[in-house]
Amino acid sequence: MRLRARLPIEPLPAVRRLRGGPGLLALVLVLAGCNSPVEGPAEGGLSPNALPEVVAALRQDLELPRHASDGAGTVAIAEGPARVTAGGSGTWTFVFRAGPLGIAEGGWLLFQVSPFWNWSTPQVSERHAPGFTEVATDAAGVVLEPETLDRQLLGIRVTGRALAAGEAVRLTYGAGAGGALVDRFAETGSQFWFAVDGDGDGIRGLLPEPLTVDVTAGPAALLLLTLPSVARPGETARLRLAAVDGAGNQAALPAAQAALTWQRRDDARGPLPPDLPRSVDLAAGMTVELEVPAAGVLAVSASTPEGLTGTSNPMVVSADLPPVLWGDLHGHSNLSDGTGSPAGYFRYARDVAALDFVALTDHDHWGIQPLATHPGNWEEIRRQVAAFHAPGEFVTLLGYEWTSWLHGHRHVLYFADDGPVLSSVDPAYETPRQLWDALRPYPALTFAHHSAGEPVATNWSYAPDPQLEPVTEIVSVHGSSEAADSPRVVRGALPGNFVRDVLERGHVLGFIGSGDTHDGHPGLAALANPNGGLAALPGAAPSRESVRQALVARRAYATNGTRTVLAATLDGAGMGQVVPPSESPLLAVEVAGTMPLSRLDIVRAGTPPESIDLEGRWHVRLERRIAATAPGDFVYLRVLEEGGGTAWSSPFFVDSHPPALR
Ligand SMILES: [Zn+2]
Ligand SMILES: [Zn+2]
Repeated sequence: MRLRARLPIEPLPAVRRLRGGPGLLALVLVLAGCNSPVEGPAEGGLSPNALPEVVAALRQDLELPRHASDGAGTVAIAEGPARVTAGGSGTWTFVFRAGPLGIAEGGWLLFQVSPFWNWSTPQVSERHAPGFTEVATDAAGVVLEPETLDRQLLGIRVTGRALAAGEAVRLTYGAGAGGALVDRFAETGSQFWFAVDGDGDGIRGLLPEPLTVDVTAGPAALLLLTLPSVARPGETARLRLAAVDGAGNQAALPAAQAALTWQRRDDARGPLPPDLPRSVDLAAGMTVELEVPAAGVLAVSASTPEGLTGTSNPMVVSADLPPVLWGDLHGHSNLSDGTGSPAGYFRYARDVAALDFVALTDHDHWGIQPLATHPGNWEEIRRQVAAFHAPGEFVTLLGYEWTSWLHGHRHVLYFADDGPVLSSVDPAYETPRQLWDALRPYPALTFAHHSAGEPVATNWSYAPDPQLEPVTEIVSVHGSSEAADSPRVVRGALPGNFVRDVLERGHVLGFIGSGDTHDGHPGLAALANPNGGLAALPGAAPSRESVRQALVARRAYATNGTRTVLAATLDGAGMGQVVPPSESPLLAVEVAGTMPLSRLDIVRAGTPPESIDLEGRWHVRLERRIAATAPGDFVYLRVLEEGGGTAWSSPFFVDSHPPALR
């Protein structure tokens, strides 16, 4: 379709369809593995699965001259519900009135439903199928020719004669028996967009404000309980409760009371601690204060009289282990290609996922009104980041996604109240090197993601900047970019482009996981997807500076969404640290699973992982001597739970130099 390429309002999967041939694969695959610090070809080239045609289309779109009649007119909802239930259906009638210049013969009116997830495609061919759409006008002599142009886009061509100023087009979406199916993810203000190509040259302009309806959650299906991962004996710990529907949307609690019980998550015997409140009044708040028992690894289960149940993550009672902060540093709202508002995103992160720190990272140039060209949207994100930031309780970070189709995606985080959107479509910030150089004046960090595969893999010929990119996102909804032997590898993974390959070339990177949620569920992307991602920061405090320092020091581990407890040292040094070579280094590991543990893999440079069977235990503590390490080696841990939960420690890096020289 001629209109199609003019406005980049497609979800990510559509980009995959635009992919060309193998392209520049050879350029990056010549990078051979070696353990000496960072050699290989000079930086340059492109990602092995780069999509230069997407960048060309985006740049072209920015240049397009729009006619005065493009994007003109008004539209209103004449009939239809203001609120609908996620996964339900509805029928809406819209009345569009042409602007002062009308729509020329051959021009178009376009109707775009929220372009992501599960809204019905507006279609005009099957009256009884969902999304059937009727269009009509009273303007005598005007003929309307509707056709579905894309998954969520209906175009209506004006023929016969021009639609004159003030003349109306009436459009009923969901006019047939099937109505129009509603997205299964809840959001306040789900958007219907209209656009006009007034002169018929194939270039459209959006009407500035979308029409909106609220999509509300379905009935509660699951209780979510969150405990601190580590607690001191005798202290007071907070249990957080929330309810979600079958798609992970925050749901109202049907009951006023829930019964709580302790669950053992270790091999200790004897009675469970007695002090748990038998019944909590959920109307009084979703937080319950618990006295931490003297010892053990415990979880809490809850049930309501209606049969709703849930079980918390494990809590290790320990006087020694540092507390763990949990966060999600990558996700999207409806300001780019996600579901829900920035405020809804942060509220969910705080109240449902019970995260300690979170970033919203909408795309620089992707979405209906991209951040790079709509400063009001960036301003709204800044406003919400500030409004939700509560140091000591809940840390919000300002960020965006540098969505490079040439060198791979990175998210940019600012550990401050403000920072610029440096767009990857802008030739001034086209390469990772240009981005990093421009970010140096700011307290910023960057994170490569889905780096091994689709939709665009990382061009690792640009060595991760040692100041600005200390860690990498190895797992998200897209799957794992760790290694080919990882569970649930990212789609389209490219041999040689995994994070382990990059470590083998001598790069120093810690590991985090992030959700990359597009369904409005930061911290809980795994609820409605096979995979998610979380970042764990042992020993960090809930402030922006402490989170930044933990990431810079690689005191971090990754999970694919589970709150697995993972603590490890190598010769006494913590994960992510630089250790001297050793003849017989001592590895100490403590793990508590959200499900029984199946396997611990010890991964190191140049050899297949060594696996230890964890035999379905919930909690494991072990010490063992591992084979000698030499400068350039790395060692990291991968823990697998029954049910697919996986955690990765940041690597220990072996070097004879002191850390400052790395
Ligand atoms: Zn991305
Ligand atoms: Zn993303």
